Amino acid sequence: MNCRICGRELGREDDPLSLDCGGDCWGCIGEIEAEMGSESSLARVREEAAQGLRPSWKAPAEQPPSATTGH
Ligand SMILES: [Zn+2]
Repeated sequence: MNCRICGRELGREDDPLSLDCGGDCWGCIGEIEAEMGSESSLARVREEAAQGLRPSWKAPAEQPPSATTGH
């Protein structure tokens, strides 16, 4: 079985991103969930990116705290 999004083979032991998330791989699902604002998914995706597992993933821009201008 392969991911419906990227075609990656699912459930490979040597590929932590190939985890089967209902027909799609965690590699795709994790990034989608992170983009949708899931903090737990984002934390995991961030960790995997730091390990070099997601070379093409770009962390979403940090929302700067509302500037306290006006002084
Ligand atoms: Zn995929």
